[in-house]
Parts: sequence; C-alpha cells; structure tokens
Amino acid sequence: MSKKTSQPETCAFCGRKADDAFLLVASQLNNQVYVCDDCFSICTAALYSGQYQFVKDGIAVINDAAMSLSARHQHQDAVTKTASKVADPSEAGFIAQTSRKGTQAIKAVIPTEIKRALDDYVVGQEQAKKVISVSVYNHYKRILHNSWDARPGKSSSRAADIELRKSNILLIGPSGCGKTLLAETMAKTLNVPFAIADATTLTEAGYVGDDVEIILRNLLQRCDFDVSLAEKGIVYIDEIDKIARKSDNVSITRDVSGEGVQQALLKLIEGAVVRVPVSGNRKHPAQECVEINSKDILFICGGAFEHLDKIVQQRTQSKSIGFTSTLHGTEAEHQMLKKLEPDDLVKFGLIPELVGRLPVVAVLDPLNIDQMVAILQEPKNALTKQYAELLRLDGVKLQFTESALRHIAQRAIDRKTGARGLRAIMEELLLDTMYQAPTNKKTQTIVIDDAIVNKYKAPRVKLKPVSSKAG
Ligand code: ADP
Repeated sequence: MSKKTSQPETCAFCGRKADDAFLLVASQLNNQVYVCDDCFSICTAALYSGQYQFVKDGIAVINDAAMSLSARHQHQDAVTKTASKVADPSEAGFIAQTSRKGTQAIKAVIPTEIKRALDDYVVGQEQAKKVISVSVYNHYKRILHNSWDARPGKSSSRAADIELRKSNILLIGPSGCGKTLLAETMAKTLNVPFAIADATTLTEAGYVGDDVEIILRNLLQRCDFDVSLAEKGIVYIDEIDKIARKSDNVSITRDVSGEGVQQALLKLIEGAVVRVPVSGNRKHPAQECVEINSKDILFICGGAFEHLDKIVQQRTQSKSIGFTSTLHGTEAEHQMLKKLEPDDLVKFGLIPELVGRLPVVAVLDPLNIDQMVAILQEPKNALTKQYAELLRLDGVKLQFTESALRHIAQRAIDRKTGARGLRAIMEELLLDTMYQAPTNKKTQTIVIDDAIVNKYKAPRVKLKPVSSKAG
C-alpha cells in the first residue's frame, strides 16, 4: 500500500498540481510519481515525431520546439492560475491524445506533415491532399477543444460556447485514382483506427440498422474493441454515389432507391450513439453490444459520381449561354467537376442533409501516364519495389526498362481501371518469371522491357557468372 503524504500530488515534469491539470497519471510502480496529461502528450508526440535527443544511453531529452510548448503552459499557469492545460491546438505543432485505456496514442499532426506523409504513398492529387490534411487536422483539433471544455466539474476559460462542428469529407474521382488510398494512408499517419465500408452492401440489405452498426463494428475490431479509440477513428465509405436517389439521378442504372440508406448513414455521420454487437469477441464474452458515439468519428465518403459533370455543365451553361469548352473527354469532365456546388450533388441524388454533412469536397484528378509510371516506381511500397523484393527472396534481381513501365501504365489506362489495374498487369507479366525463379538457380537478373510487355515474350535473363573455383 502506498504511504499517505501531505504533499499535494504534482506532475514530475512541470510541477503542475492535480487541480490544474486535466489529469495526472500515476506511476503503476508506487503511485507516487505523476505525469500530467500535457507532459504526457508532449512526450508522446515528441517520441513519434523524433523530437528528442539522447543525453546518455537510453536517456533522452525532448527538443526545444516541444519543450517550449511545455514552458508556455507553465507560464500560462503562473499568469492565469486557470486550468488551461491541454496542449492548445492553436499553438501546438502537434497534438497527442491517449485513449482512456492508455493503450495507444492518437495524434493529430499539422497539415504540412500530413501532406508530407501522404506524399510518400500517394502520387499526384495535390489539391485533394491539401484539402484532406487541413480538414483532418481541424477534426482532431476540434476533438481536443471539445474534450477540454467537457471536463467534469471544471469550467473553461476559453470560448466554451463555441462548439466546433465536425466536417466530414467527400472525395470525388474515377475508380482507382487513390480515394481509398488517401483515407487509409491518412489513418495510418495519425495512428487512428480505420475501417472501410461499401455503401452498396447497405443497399442490398434493405434495412440499414444492422449494416450501419457493422461499419462501427469493423472499426472496433481494428482497435481491439477499445471503444474510446474507435470513437476517434476514421471510416471510409466507398461507392457513396451508388446509393443516390434515382429520381433526380441522370444515370438511372439501379432499381433500388438509396434514400433510406442515406437517411441511416446521415445519423451515423452526424453523430449518434449506436449499439454495436460484439458477441463472440474474446474480450466481451458475456456482453453482446457496446455503445459507440460516432460524433468524433471522421467519415470520408468516396465515389466516382459518373455523369455528375453533366449536371454541373447544365447549371453553368444555363448561366452563361454560348459558352463552349475547348476541352474534351476526361479532362473536360474533370474541369467541369471543379465548378461543383452542393446543389449539383443533390441533383445527382444525394439527400440535402447528407450533402450538408459532407461540407469538405475534394475532386481527385484522373491519373495520367506519367503519374501511373510514378505509381509503379516511386511510392514507398511501389509495385516494382514489391515484386523486386519478392524475387530478391529467390536470389533474382528484377529490373524494368523505362519504356516497359510506360507500356504497363498505358495498358492500365486502356483498361480504364485506374492504378488499381496495375497489379493485375504485373501479375500477368511476371507469372512465368515467378514460377521459374525458385527453380532456376543460375538466373542473376531478369530485365522486363517493352517487347516483353507488348508481346508477352519471355523476359531477358542474365545468368550468374560461372564459379571459377578449381576442384
Ligand atoms: P479508388 O479511388 O477507387 O478508391 P484506390 O485508392 O483503392 O482507388 O486505388 C487502388 C490502388 O491503386 C491503390 O491501392 C494503389 O495501389 C493504387 N493507386 C491508386 N491511386 C494512386 C495514387 N494516386 N498514388 C499511388 N497509388 C495509387
């Protein structure tokens, strides 16, 4: 049992008393050493972002940038004696927040850093990356702001009555241009749970209740059923355009009206307490459902929205009679989409309330051949790197000529599959190579050139030099 002390508990880092902090975390060893939420956040974020230096083996100090934030808080304490202790989102270079269980840190990174992380994996889509980076940063700032003001028994000195409302995101772009990849990479960057849902499966079920819950259940599974983490996760809902109401839809291709599904999604997206079945989970053997509040979950919806450009065109042309575009095809459609207004989405068939809940809209570019080639070789996990690694494990070096890469990219463009088609093309192309590689021990290097891509000829093989060891 720990000894009672008359000294008030204080943060061992900044000296703040429990009363002045959101909370003090006690050491599990003896319950006598404490760290406040601010210092904890600063340390976590510094560790994540590498803002620390070793002073001796195993001992590090946090860099000035991170510490100055801490110093500012102490200064603020001295001046105001208020309880304004959570890293102020407007000042912080980064924010970190820990789940109630303390199992995993959630961090919200500044927009330029988010964009940099996205650049490592997603080629092009500059505008969309910027829009998402800002929006996601604001989302987590908002959570922090609201959680600060909602502290039990404490009144905020800040603008508590300004409720920051959530801005979910709508991504519009052709299939395979990186919508899902952007959302997924974003979640990875922030270290928050991420789940993908397909809006068309909701349509098939007819009634939404269960399906909507399943979206959250997937999210819960991603964070090992830690509800507080799931409540700050990101959900990507794909094919949102496929649940458009058919009456106003210019491309009437479906029999089912998605309005009911949209209504149910709306509740979830704007924030609702949902009972999610978790039966069968090892952590909840006796419990069938857990409640999740979706108000802080960021929803990113995506879709190709085919023919949406026509709706925009109708509206803009009726305003400017006589306007004729010199652009044609995909590029013309894309330019038209840049003039998109919320009403166009309503005309497409989304209900106005849902459009209102997706105020951040990013239109993604169709990928051109140079970007496809870049996708093949530049991202951290680019396909050529993946296949080279696979073959390296069999002792074979894999090389592609520049013109082979252009032919592969062109084939994906011709198939209209976006970058998603690249993997299938690579599989077709490398099937024989991967089949032979483990057997043929003499192969040193395999070169894929454009003749191989075009004519499906066997690849050029360089053999290993014959060992000149005399018996
Ligand atoms: P969608 O826009 O249909 O959601 P995805 O994001 O699922 O497309 O893309 C499918 C795959 O294609 C990704 O997993 C990735 O390998 C590749 N890809 C698509 N767009 C890009 C891009 N802009 N940069 C890098 N890879 C991409």
